[in-house]
Amino acid sequence: MLDGYQEAKFDHGRRRILAVEDDLINREILSLMLRDTYDVLTAETGRQALELLEKDCGTLSLMLLDLNLPDLKGIDILRRIKGNALTARLPVIVMTADQDAEVECLTLGATDFISKPYPKQEIVLARIRRTIELFEDRDLIRRTERDQLTGLYNREFFYRYAAQHDEYHPEEPTDAIMLDINHFHMINERYGRDFGDRVLKLVAEKLLAKVGDSDGIVCRREDDTFLIYCLHRSDYRQILDGVCMQMGTDYQIRARMGVYQDVDRSIEMERRFDRAKQAADSVKNSYSQSVGFYDDAMHEKELFMEQLLEDFHTAIREKQFTVYYQPKFDVRPEEPVLNSAEALVRWRHPRLGLISPGVFIPLFEQNGLIRELDSYVWREAAAQIRAWEERLGRRIPVSVNVSRIDLNDPPLLKMLEKIVDEAGVGRESFLLEITESAYTENAEQIISVVRSLRKNGFFIEMDDFGTGYSSLNMIATLPIDALKLDMQFIRTAFRDRKDTRLLETVIRLAQSLGLSTVAEGVETAEQMLTLKALGCDVVQGYYFSKPLPAEEFETFVREKCRRP
Ligand code: C2E
Ligand code: CA
Ligand code: CA
Repeated sequence: MLDGYQEAKFDHGRRRILAVEDDLINREILSLMLRDTYDVLTAETGRQALELLEKDCGTLSLMLLDLNLPDLKGIDILRRIKGNALTARLPVIVMTADQDAEVECLTLGATDFISKPYPKQEIVLARIRRTIELFEDRDLIRRTERDQLTGLYNREFFYRYAAQHDEYHPEEPTDAIMLDINHFHMINERYGRDFGDRVLKLVAEKLLAKVGDSDGIVCRREDDTFLIYCLHRSDYRQILDGVCMQMGTDYQIRARMGVYQDVDRSIEMERRFDRAKQAADSVKNSYSQSVGFYDDAMHEKELFMEQLLEDFHTAIREKQFTVYYQPKFDVRPEEPVLNSAEALVRWRHPRLGLISPGVFIPLFEQNGLIRELDSYVWREAAAQIRAWEERLGRRIPVSVNVSRIDLNDPPLLKMLEKIVDEAGVGRESFLLEITESAYTENAEQIISVVRSLRKNGFFIEMDDFGTGYSSLNMIATLPIDALKLDMQFIRTAFRDRKDTRLLETVIRLAQSLGLSTVAEGVETAEQMLTLKALGCDVVQGYYFSKPLPAEEFETFVREKCRRP
């Protein structure tokens, strides 16, 4: 594929050459030699040459430059061409009778020489052809290994060149760095894509200027994530400060950086950048500090996580994962009534003890193991509904958590149907909690999956509402049955200065859309009563009970729901 730049060069099917030569006879000889093969532009002075370049550089395949011009020195022209990003990629062949100038010209980036008086036509043509071919190949490579927007290396080539960097510097300590722009998707939304692109280009330029001149390489991995691999240095704060530029009056770029210093070369390249990411994540929610360094504690954590991954399949096989149940109460009647339960998984690890899902769920989401775990939990939950029905003489609906990763799995609907059918549980008793952020991430696809789940009889609760970015009017169009207000929502409303106006608005809105509302993380009587007064339907939280193992839950139900 040719881009605009390339197409212009092949305008008449012939490549175009600029010959800069003040001597009339020489100019004529050159034109004669070249004109059957190339389009030839000529310039008599250095200034003329620079003017032509400014206008037409993109259409040129090569420049032939006489070093002895009346106005500017050939060497200075060469310096200016190579110093300007727009013209630097044009190959230049220098023509001179002066052998001594060679070294200086080569240092300045001339590609080849043609001596004067000119050699035979075949020789001149062969040199020109070879130079053009070489540069066009290089250009092609450049375009496959670079990110189109910023001109930095793309991910694939970056990892290759990073490995090469190691070979060039076998002994020197080297650092892996990741840089992320804060809230980049918000920038795009708020100021438009073009503005977002400008931000990315500026950041790329700054990084290149800081790192590219010394021993290092820079890449845009995707979106707003940049990677740097360079010899160890200690000015990362300054580099980050340089990136955090003010743009216009109302926007300043903010970014965070993670540095993995003196990388361990025995681990894979990508893992070195995972460590840089871990370091960056460690300063994610900090205002003061935006450069994080990979340290021993993170290393410990990494080993711990590795251990968990390693133990996963054994744990499934040996049923180390246990499902706890937390009751949800319908608070509309005078006295709250048990309404359902949420299934929450825990890991009873034989050596590490009880591990909370906050630790391992994100990990398993990263590598897809979550699918296996969730289907295990769903099966357990479905069987539990059935078991309680028999033992307690009543059906207690259970809601399960559905990860965003599960939603990318096409057979999800079939799998859920199979699970509930095999357990002999109606779909209305098997509720699905889907986190709000899943909807904003890949909206179209998720919405269509959720729609089909609903069409087939499942009820959907939007979990963690208030933590994602879905606007209130977006809720109206989403295929859901209930809004589950995130714990933080409740927490904020009941902070020292109680302010429940937002809560009230959301509950009203849900009501007007025919959605029920569930509040989670409710810990006090005051919270419960206020929510009830505001019209919230269902309440879950420590106020009623912590999540309990199935047997304890059963006892809880027997005691709580005993008729007086
Ligand atoms: P979540 O779905 O938002 O679950 C609510 C979390 O809040 C649970 O933490 C629960 O124990 C806790 N919680 C409930 N009431 C209160 C309260 O009054 N005060 C406080 N401080 N906390 C309360 P848990 O069990 O640690 O689960 C954490 C998260 O892990 C869950 O958040 C959910 O996103 C995920 N998770 C848990 N089990 C599963 C599962 O089986 N599959 C998937 N995909 N995710 C799960
Ligand atoms: Ca949940
Ligand atoms: Ca939640």
